[in-house]
Amino acid sequence: MFFDLSNQCVLCGRRADSGLCPHCHRELERHCALSGPLCRCALPGPGLDPGALCGRCLDRPPGFAASYCAWAYRFPLDRLLNAYKHRGRLTVERALETLTRAQPLPWPEADLICPLPAHWRRRWWRGFDQAERLAASLGRRWRRPVVPVLTRPRATRHQQGQSRATRVRSLRHAFRADPRARGRRILLVDDVMTTGASARAAARALGEAGAAEVRVWVLARTLRSGAGGS
Ligand SMILES: [Zn+2]
Ligand SMILES: [Zn+2]
Repeated sequence: MFFDLSNQCVLCGRRADSGLCPHCHRELERHCALSGPLCRCALPGPGLDPGALCGRCLDRPPGFAASYCAWAYRFPLDRLLNAYKHRGRLTVERALETLTRAQPLPWPEADLICPLPAHWRRRWWRGFDQAERLAASLGRRWRRPVVPVLTRPRATRHQQGQSRATRVRSLRHAFRADPRARGRRILLVDDVMTTGASARAAARALGEAGAAEVRVWVLARTLRSGAGGS
């Protein structure tokens, strides 16, 4: 893409070799950093106790044991993640690496990293799978194998604008886990968690395939549901 090898900040256009200038990095930390204990679904602040769950997770506990997330999906991080269209893959990925560089492997017992497979339409629209690219980058840094033990063979209808019940129904059989999941501790990786419905369905498929434990790492969490994505 045209901007791919630029040394501009993705957000402001100022000079930045890492894709994100120090000013925007600070702004992003100020507006988007999540602090305090997260619920199992990565929502912040269900209670002061680190094991506390939000109402929805109390109601229907997800099939994954924990989530790790450092950022809220809001301005300016949303702009950064939407910049793929205008800025090109490499520049945005450099910025994302700048953001995730300080994050250590949150679950040292993990055997493998698996990207949460994107809906084919999202992949087609972008020309690549963002979760796959993130997982590859984290796997290299955290020295864990990236094994795609999940596939998404069935075209589920676009989730945006659907009721939660319809979304959950169409996701129920969306993921297929392969036998390599058996007995493994699997860290699922995705870019943005919105409702958590995809991660729930993916964890269920992995659990049915005999995974020992599933946890989730997402770059960013939407704090209000209904903004699209999964
Ligand atoms: Zn900047
Ligand atoms: Zn929750």
